Amino acid sequence: MRSPARRSPPSDAELHARLAARIEALEDRVRQLEVRVRGGAVARRVRVPVGPVRQKTAAPRTSNRPQPRCPGCTLELPPGRKGEACVWCGFQFDAVRSRKRKG
Ligand SMILES: [Zn+2]
Repeated sequence: MRSPARRSPPSDAELHARLAARIEALEDRVRQLEVRVRGGAVARRVRVPVGPVRQKTAAPRTSNRPQPRCPGCTLELPPGRKGEACVWCGFQFDAVRSRKRKG
């Protein structure tokens, strides 16, 4: 509920003028917002072409973490096939494993 003006009630003309000014300001604002929203939508569309990005994704397949290398030939060992010896040169991993560096 809106009580009519508490102080001296403004005249009809004054009210009209005030409202007109207000409406004009609001229209201006709406126009600016429209432009901004439109620009934002376009920018967003350009930025993110498909679906949400940077959400929880599976582990990246890039060679981010270094693969274990053979101490003998320094070649990268194929993942999942870590035997006792290098698949490339036949280097025995036990040879270095048993000889831990000290100091
Ligand atoms: Zn090797």
